[in-house]
Amino acid sequence: MTDLTDLGIRDLRDGFRAGQFSARDVATAFNAAVAAATPLNAFLVETPDHALAAADAADTARAAGDAPKPLAGVPIGMKDLFCTKGVASTAASHILEGFVPEYESTVSQKLWDAGAGMLGKLNMDQFAMGSSNETSHFGNVISPWRRADGGNAPLAPGGSSGGSSSAVAARIAPGATGTDTGGSIRQPAAFTGISGIKPTYGRCSRWGVIAFASSLDQAGPMARDVRDCAIMLENMCGFDQKDATSLDLPVPQWEAGLNAGLKGKRVGVPKEYRVDGMPPEIEALWQQGIDWVKDAGAEVVEVSLPHTKYALPAYYIIAPAEASSNLARYDGVRYGLRDLPEGANLQEMYARTRAEGFGDEVKRRILIGTYVLSAGFYDAYYTQAQKVRALIARDFERAWEACDVLLTPTAPSAAFALGEKSADPIAMYLNDVFTVPSSLAGLPAMSVPGGVDAMGLPLGLQIIGRPLDEQGVLNAALAIEERAGFVARPERWW
Ligand code: GLN
Repeated sequence: MTDLTDLGIRDLRDGFRAGQFSARDVATAFNAAVAAATPLNAFLVETPDHALAAADAADTARAAGDAPKPLAGVPIGMKDLFCTKGVASTAASHILEGFVPEYESTVSQKLWDAGAGMLGKLNMDQFAMGSSNETSHFGNVISPWRRADGGNAPLAPGGSSGGSSSAVAARIAPGATGTDTGGSIRQPAAFTGISGIKPTYGRCSRWGVIAFASSLDQAGPMARDVRDCAIMLENMCGFDQKDATSLDLPVPQWEAGLNAGLKGKRVGVPKEYRVDGMPPEIEALWQQGIDWVKDAGAEVVEVSLPHTKYALPAYYIIAPAEASSNLARYDGVRYGLRDLPEGANLQEMYARTRAEGFGDEVKRRILIGTYVLSAGFYDAYYTQAQKVRALIARDFERAWEACDVLLTPTAPSAAFALGEKSADPIAMYLNDVFTVPSSLAGLPAMSVPGGVDAMGLPLGLQIIGRPLDEQGVLNAALAIEERAGFVARPERWW
């Protein structure tokens, strides 16, 4: 029999339904793979019993002849940004150490209702701030990938959903949740040779997801291929009264709607994404992607998104501004850490708890955010950034007159080595150059593996779609996936 951990979500689901194996066998195989992969540091908490309980429920239901749930027999990893009832949820921050939620996030609850089980909570950049997983309080995740230069430099799995990307790429979880504020699903997916989609803002409820920048945060799936992402996404989305920004719309059947034929579709190539200093390999991959979508029947058109160059600076004002407000709640009173020495007053407790509990990157964002929201600088920075955000959204609206989806690279480079960019925040922020504009506009966007670079490391292509057109995004990604034939996977060293 094939190793069950070699199977993705669709194959696990279908194999379980067909009686080829039990859900308990699947959960047991993945639990063992998780336990054997501790050198990756992908999981902060392992929850084998959760996975087994869901599996046993699925096996019992199958034996009773009940109609199978959509994800029966499928265990997944859960990014630690999602609050999970009775299971420690820290957003990889010291300040939330010891916090065990009394409630379940809407997205995780939907996945459990669909029959999935949880393998554990996945490591990430602290409060989802970062692009390399190095800001986690609990140590960075290491990518399962290695460069083919024999140097064995440990590589970044991308961020902030780097535990998710590593776990899926290393085949220790068939799928995982991620969240994306400015690229945190797409960039780690690109770095590790897997697929990931951020749906339209409002498709997934943010209730119970630890907040970073509320006007940008969206959950989404990370999995081995486009179909697996479609299956997971269907079981994560849907209206939720507990989130005021949740969209009250039916969830389409994206898996059933998958169609890799792009005849009659126009694929836009934004000329402003051809940034200075882009490595030739990324440029070549992009051209390859253009040829693939043409081969699938699409017409390719050049489009202009003139305000692209202002997206990154606007994002790094808006996201910290919202973060500084959202993170004000961590004061030593309500959650997690409290530093209150004998005789200290309330002010001292706030200051000590926050000084000790937040990591450097989180503090940097709180400082920037507080500054741009302060009375003297609000108009100069925050109002200005909001205007830029509106212009970026307008750029996309104009582009949709000429095309149905956009095709771009996902990230400006392949995975870099751990430590390579951690001393230079600007270099780190530049990772988000291709992912941030669609986040600011709230658009669905996906990364799909396109090939490898000279070092054998994965490179991703990004598809951006119109609001609510996840189907168009998935279909274009599928057309690329079929032509890319991406089969590379990391050699096991852990
Ligand atoms: N890397 C980006 C940041 O640090 C995006 C993070 C995210 O999408 N959560 O803000």
